[in-house]
Amino acid sequence: MPDSIPAATKYCIIGAGVHGLSTAWHLARELKSRNRGTGADVVVLDKTAVGAGASGIACGVVRNYYVQPAMGELMAHSVGVWESDAEAFHYNPVGYLAVAGEVQRQDFESIAARHDKIGYRARFIQGEQRVFDYMRGIFPDWRARGLSVCIHELQGGFAFNRESMSGLAQKAQAEGVRIVTGVTVTGFEMKPDGTVGTVKTDRGNIAVDHVVVGVGAWIKQVWEMLGLSHQVDVLHNGKLHQGLEMWTYWQLQEGEIQTGPDLYRTADGKIPPVIHIDSMEPLLADDTGQPITNELWGIYFKRDRHGVQGGAVPIKLGHTAQVDPYGPESPHYTVREDFAPYWTAGLAHCMERFRGCSKLYKRAPTGGIGCFTVDNFPVFDWMRPNVYVIADSNHGYKMIGVGKEVARVVMGDPSRLLHPFRFSRFAEGALHPRSSGPFPWT
Ligand SMILES: Cc1cc2nc3c(=O)[nH]c(=O)nc-3n(C[C@H](O)[C@H](O)[C@H](O)COP(=O)(O)OP(=O)(O)OC[C@H]3O[C@@H](n4cnc5c(N)ncnc54)[C@H](O)[C@@H]3O)c2cc1C
Repeated sequence: MPDSIPAATKYCIIGAGVHGLSTAWHLARELKSRNRGTGADVVVLDKTAVGAGASGIACGVVRNYYVQPAMGELMAHSVGVWESDAEAFHYNPVGYLAVAGEVQRQDFESIAARHDKIGYRARFIQGEQRVFDYMRGIFPDWRARGLSVCIHELQGGFAFNRESMSGLAQKAQAEGVRIVTGVTVTGFEMKPDGTVGTVKTDRGNIAVDHVVVGVGAWIKQVWEMLGLSHQVDVLHNGKLHQGLEMWTYWQLQEGEIQTGPDLYRTADGKIPPVIHIDSMEPLLADDTGQPITNELWGIYFKRDRHGVQGGAVPIKLGHTAQVDPYGPESPHYTVREDFAPYWTAGLAHCMERFRGCSKLYKRAPTGGIGCFTVDNFPVFDWMRPNVYVIADSNHGYKMIGVGKEVARVVMGDPSRLLHPFRFSRFAEGALHPRSSGPFPWT
């Protein structure tokens, strides 16, 4: 018997992913601490289940490797939330290590300077031999050359996706929040002033005071339900680009090799930091030794329960995509044929122990779909007078702290951390700087 939906709620949160759940938990705490209500005033709706979207399949990497100052500050804030209860969030604070060649020197310098400035614990290593020696100190069989910059974040790491979402849901429920699953939001009834008075669902209507939208890759549908345009004007370098598509879908390429947990450890037997490498060195297939690319390539990887999991540069799908079903049946829940050779070549390029790892590649539905904004950075803003939208542009498993800020904003406070992600930045030309890496999310 499905859980019934309430006829009315003060705060209706759509989506039980990292953003919806974090907002619900923090909102309940804010209400209580300000004597303005309790968690019982908050309802989370999800059409499927807790963690049924990207938050439940994410690689789970938590890092602060961002060129954009505003992203960096928000990540530092989010890492603080992960660290606040590592056990409940199934968070492994193993750190994050990015290595790259000369082409990314400027990016690395600015990231390292910002880490310093905001007190985020990290090391910056420069010079080809120094970087090589540093990597050898952690992994005695490290073999990748041509990398002259390295940032080793001593904070960050990874969390187990589904377990962390259950931990977050339990925290919200412990504060009295109701999470109703198996209910799909189908539309909104607006008042003449543009506020939403009713959330329409496939199981009846809910009268609401405030709405928070955290629907991940389904944002385009809900954006439309809110009567918002799919085209946006963007001021860039003094030139106005009119009518650009607001949403673009990308297919994330991720997979794993099954090695058993012991193969991948540091020299001192610990769980390694998450590794990200961007390199211009020739990438050669692990099995045949045939060249795969001579251009800038990039992969990331981390230890998983059964081996090593990671990914590579995603594939752009375009402005329309079939998002449902989201999961193993989805046309986007599987990677392209060329992913396994590319990613395993990258692993073997990095460490001797991964030579021959292409044979251990697990053929299973992996990867997933993300919906990106026009500039590939999040939009966190009031899009109707009482509707706050969290559209993270697929940056967001790590951004568990966004909900904490959104809760304060919903209470009427300003947020310095979220302000750079306002929707009006497109028209104002207040865009975020771009990195020179090959990924749309760095
Ligand atoms: C394969 C993959 C790997 C990733 N790896 C990482 C990573 O390592 N680190 C990182 O930081 N980020 C990663 N990301 C990005 C990150 O997972 C997402 O940015 C983040 O999880 C989005 O969270 P969310 O809460 O906005 O959405 P989701 O987690 O997608 O949750 C949205 C929820 O809304 C529900 N919903 C949708 N429409 C409706 C509706 N109409 N009515 C009711 N409910 C609805 C869905 O059922 C879903 O449960 C990855 C993404 C993918 C796809």
